[in-house]
Amino acid sequence: MSQRTKIKALLQSQQTEIDVTVKGWVRAFRSNRFIALNDGSTNNNIQVVVDFENTDPALLKRITVGAALSVQGKLIASLGKGQIVEVVATEIEILGDSDPEKYPIQPKKHSLEFLRENAHLRFRTSTFGAIFRVRNSLAFAVHQFFQERGFVYLHTPVITASDAEGAGETFHVTNFDLDNIPKTDTGEIDFKQDFFGRATNLTVSGQLEGELGAMALSDIYTFGPTFRAENSNTTRHLAEFWMIEPEVAFNDLVDNMDLAEDMLKYVIKYALDKNADDIEFLTQRLTEEEKTKPQNERSEMTLLEKLQFCLNNDFERLTYTEAIDILKESTPNKKKKFVYPVEGWGTDLQSEHERYLVEKHFKKPVILTDYPKEIKAFYMRQNDDGKTVRAMDILFPGIGEIVGGSQREERLDKLEQRMNEMGIPTEELWWYLDTRRFGSCPHAGFGLGFERLVMFVTGMGNIRDVIPFPRFPKNAEF
Ligand code: ATP
Ligand code: MN
Repeated sequence: MSQRTKIKALLQSQQTEIDVTVKGWVRAFRSNRFIALNDGSTNNNIQVVVDFENTDPALLKRITVGAALSVQGKLIASLGKGQIVEVVATEIEILGDSDPEKYPIQPKKHSLEFLRENAHLRFRTSTFGAIFRVRNSLAFAVHQFFQERGFVYLHTPVITASDAEGAGETFHVTNFDLDNIPKTDTGEIDFKQDFFGRATNLTVSGQLEGELGAMALSDIYTFGPTFRAENSNTTRHLAEFWMIEPEVAFNDLVDNMDLAEDMLKYVIKYALDKNADDIEFLTQRLTEEEKTKPQNERSEMTLLEKLQFCLNNDFERLTYTEAIDILKESTPNKKKKFVYPVEGWGTDLQSEHERYLVEKHFKKPVILTDYPKEIKAFYMRQNDDGKTVRAMDILFPGIGEIVGGSQREERLDKLEQRMNEMGIPTEELWWYLDTRRFGSCPHAGFGLGFERLVMFVTGMGNIRDVIPFPRFPKNAEF
């Protein structure tokens, strides 16, 4: 039989005493007899038993960690402990040799930093195999969630001329000869001569274009790469990340919160069902990691418990103003334990404040609404108090902000007025304002940072470990 069976299927096989072909990479080889073989279909290895007395010693030597093998043999109920079935090899073919002296991924514990430097090979570890299978399931679940609800997947452009957030943290897109950039008479860069005839950048958000879609298709979502040149070397920011941005006509802020909460619970549940083994493995990994921390910094719940807790509890919903009151009265604020003391209304919340609310005060996911307009984007709907906007941020334990969204300002005059106040050129965004000119309606949407979701579900503490090839300041290797 030459048809390859994946290891996941073999390990679940109801039948034994059958001939099988299995292919994969050697994770370990002990006593010249037992190969732990893995093909990435599951975290678990299949044990291949080698009849070393009747195997060519030259071949035995080539069975080294990292080598790719094709094995034919018989699937039998295992005699040893630790596995239900194993393959007794009748024929082993080396598909690709490995050099055990040089192969970086040894059958021992490697640090996450070391594996980041070897990101081209880290998929071959149990931890990263589990992370990327979970990531895959979450991505699929996102599509399934929206598709089941009749949303249209809209592809918004990667190259744009707008900076949606107005934050200016964009990567330029140009095909100018950088040694010879055309200048105007007044000495400015002459973008008229550039590829698009204007200055362009990589998108920081698909929202503005997404809104155009929602104003006809009603319910849309985007799911694509997003780029921010923020020079922040944090464990929660990447220069290239994936964002999911639903935008829904006729939704208000409460509908928006319901949608976000339903979606998060749906995709987390999907991963828990689909990737039970991987999440169990990652739970153990995190528990081990936690043991290296001082007692008071350890999490009270395991990863699995955190995920189940998130599914079984309503997210706490409160306004920014209520949150500020809680923070002002909090013990760490009174004892001056915050790096940024909470003094008054109007300041942006720092990650330490978000984490206090989520991890210490409410001990569950929190949705904060109605932020001061000064710290939010121009397109958020203005409240009647003249001070706040219909914003919502969802804060998760261990992560901080995972979702940022709002009900949008659908009233043309209010929107233009706010753009003028904030110095956002209304002429350049004429196409966006057209939606408010022709059949404007209440609508709302949000952006979910996909990697922050993957961090939460896998329990990984650094965002660089949940995307295959992380892009961050001074790093674009692989
Ligand atoms: P933060 O305050 O954490 O930088 P933000 O306010 O800039 O977030 P938004 O502009 O609201 O975030 O973007 C929507 C979502 O995209 C965020 O809630 C977060 O999950 C994610 N996100 C934002 N910036 C990054 C980044 N640099 N890397 C990864 N994910 C990000
Ligand atoms: Mn940011």
